Amino acid sequence: MSSVFFKYGIQSILMQELDLFKEQISSASSKKIIITTHHKPDADALGSSLALAGYLKKKNHQVTVVSPSDYPSFLHWMEGNDEVVNFEDPEKEKEARNLIAQAEMIFCLDFSNLGRLQGMEQVVRDAKAYKVNIDHHQDPEDFADFSFCSPKAAATCELLYDLIVKVGDRELIDKDIAECLYSGIMTDTGGFRHPNTTKNVHLVTAELIELGADNSKIARLIYDTYSVNRLKFLGFALTRRLTILPELNTAYFGVSKKDLRKYQSQTGDTEGLVNYALSLDGIKIAALFTERKDGVKISFRSSEDVAVNKFAATFFNGGGHKNASGGISKLSLEETINRFEKLVKENKHILFNQLELIDEKNQ
Ligand code: 5GP
Ligand code: MN
Repeated sequence: MSSVFFKYGIQSILMQELDLFKEQISSASSKKIIITTHHKPDADALGSSLALAGYLKKKNHQVTVVSPSDYPSFLHWMEGNDEVVNFEDPEKEKEARNLIAQAEMIFCLDFSNLGRLQGMEQVVRDAKAYKVNIDHHQDPEDFADFSFCSPKAAATCELLYDLIVKVGDRELIDKDIAECLYSGIMTDTGGFRHPNTTKNVHLVTAELIELGADNSKIARLIYDTYSVNRLKFLGFALTRRLTILPELNTAYFGVSKKDLRKYQSQTGDTEGLVNYALSLDGIKIAALFTERKDGVKISFRSSEDVAVNKFAATFFNGGGHKNASGGISKLSLEETINRFEKLVKENKHILFNQLELIDEKNQ
């Protein structure tokens, strides 16, 4: 077993499994391949998907990226974006279903519970293809024929870079692929600021820059391309929708459908908002509640010593990483926020002391 696996603590993977995977993606026979990722892809999700598509095309395969939904326009510059099939586009759904059903291989990137595909879950579950899961979330569902998963990686793009190198194909990583991979690592480490910014993260990004990634251009395209409405919405949210609970070291935003409509909000416009709540001195738990058509979407963030993923999993049907998680609530926006405040209050000593949480139903 080689160092790349030890680096991520993936000890169960055998060289035999890697050899089998190599055989599956060998350019000797061209395969129909689908790459997919979680609903509302972020830069790591889309970046890893498009990087992998670019790489597998170079290995002679027929590759299509099928996204379960649309994604922010600040990711549209990525090479291959124009060919992505959006499952939620009524004109594309049938094509997407056929592609998935006929695929010989399906790659699932940046998620490891098929539920995160939302409307696309069942068609992927039913597909007969050889399934591959590359991901860095906790508690993966066991659905794939080949898994390259480790919560120790900062980003799926970091894992994918190491996997391509491991397969012996570093020379196939061109500027476009390197830029997609760089994007996912940059955003999932919060611009190289979160505790997941390891030595390996810096080593991999250095390699990606050597392979042509223009790091400064990517930061500008992702972080500095706000629309006027998005910037004004940020100002509105900061002044009118932020609640601070100093006694609970907690701050949150609650954003209604009406607020989103007023600022003509587009997919991605609320991304990063929750971090402003966490940027306050003394705040250890931050949340963003966004009223959507199918419920209230919740983003949780926390400082290093507080784990929000267990809180999200126990109370809000979600999960994620220790300091960045999400969930969903079917209650109204107001009821969801009241429940959140109550739960933080009741579980304060547990949250801040990293103890086990108990579901309300089992109390
Ligand atoms: P975000 O707040 O940026 O939407 O999500 C932050 C992280 O939380 C994601 O990277 C993902 O790991 C996790 N996450 C977000 N929403 C959900 C969800 O509904 N279910 C689960 N299991 N994880 C989620
Ligand atoms: Mn990710």
